[in-house]
Amino acid sequence: MPLRIDILTLFPDMVSGFLGESMMKRARDMGAVEFRILSPRDYCQDKHRVTDDRPYGGGPGMVMKPEPLFAAIEDLKEEQSRVIYLSPQGKPFSQPQAEALSTESHLILLCGHYEGIDQRVVDSLVDEEISIGDYVLTNGAIAAAVLSDAVVRLIPGVLGGEGATEAESFSSGILDHPHYTRPEQFRDMGVPEVLLGGNHAAIAAWRKERALEKTRAVRPDLLD
Ligand code: SAM
Repeated sequence: MPLRIDILTLFPDMVSGFLGESMMKRARDMGAVEFRILSPRDYCQDKHRVTDDRPYGGGPGMVMKPEPLFAAIEDLKEEQSRVIYLSPQGKPFSQPQAEALSTESHLILLCGHYEGIDQRVVDSLVDEEISIGDYVLTNGAIAAAVLSDAVVRLIPGVLGGEGATEAESFSSGILDHPHYTRPEQFRDMGVPEVLLGGNHAAIAAWRKERALEKTRAVRPDLLD
C-alpha cells in the first residue's frame, strides 16, 4: 500500500509544482506515495468561502477559522491517519522522525497561514505539531513540502541505486563525509590521494575521520 499524504493548504500551487518533480515524481510514478492537495476553502459553507477572522483578545493579523479545518480533517481522517500541524511552535523535525513517518500509511499535513490556526483545531484533531526550524515562514506549504520530501525518500525503493540512506548525515548519527567526482584535477584542485588508490579500508577510515571532523566543527551536539 502506498503512503498517502494529504496536504491541506490555502496555497495548493506552492506544493503542486514541487510534487511533480525529481524524487517526489519518481515516488508517485512508482506507486510508493499518493499525494492529494486540498484547500480549506473547499470545505467552507459560506458563499464567500472565508477561511480567516480576527483574533479574540485583539492584536495584529488574522487566524484561520475552525469550521473549514474541522470539516476537512473530519472528512479526510481515517483510523490509521496521523494529523500533523506544521508550526514554528512544534517539536523540531528530525531524521529519526522522518524515518518513523515513512512507515505510516496516511499523513494529513495541515498548513497554517496568517497568525496560525484556531487552537481548538490543534487541541481536538492534531496528533503532533512539527517545526522545520527555528524561524517563521509565511505559511505552512513549504514546510509540508520539506517534510514530505524527507519522509518519501526514505520509503524503501524510492531512492533506487542513488544512494543508501544509512550512510547519510543524521542517519549515520553524524554528518556525511566530503564527496568528489571527475575530473581528477579541476583548476588547481586535486582529489585526495586516498580516494584514488582503491584501498577500501583506507577509504572508509578517511571518510569516517572527515565526517567526524566536520561534525565536531559545525554540529558538536551530535557527538554528545
Ligand atoms: N504566529 C505564529 C508564531 O509566531 O508561532 C507564526 C505563524 S506563521 C506566520 C504562519 C504559518 O506558517 C504557521 O501556522 C505554520 O503553518 C507555518 N510555519 C511558519 N514557520 C514554520 C516552521 N518553522 N515550521 C513549520 N511551519 C511553519
